[in-house]
Amino acid sequence: MSGSGSDSGSGANALECRQIAELLGDYLDGTLPRPTVELIEWHIDNCGPCVSFVNTYRGAQRATRNLAEVPIPAELKSRLLAVLRARRAAE
Ligand SMILES: [Zn+2]
Repeated sequence: MSGSGSDSGSGANALECRQIAELLGDYLDGTLPRPTVELIEWHIDNCGPCVSFVNTYRGAQRATRNLAEVPIPAELKSRLLAVLRARRAAE
């Protein structure tokens, strides 16, 4: 037998942090199902690095929203929506 290292816990935790990071956009958009949201909030409560990550992400999102406040001409907007819909239909 070749037992190597008794590193139980930290590895799984790191994996979860990755998953949290991937889900964070949807989490802040409020599009995730409740069980997933609760899981994320539970993890963040117990994970310092993720707390600061969420704060950074929220700040970045706010900055992006400010940019999005530039008014888009109605015609351009409907064209854009048409393109997006066509893409979705194609997939
Ligand atoms: Zn974490």
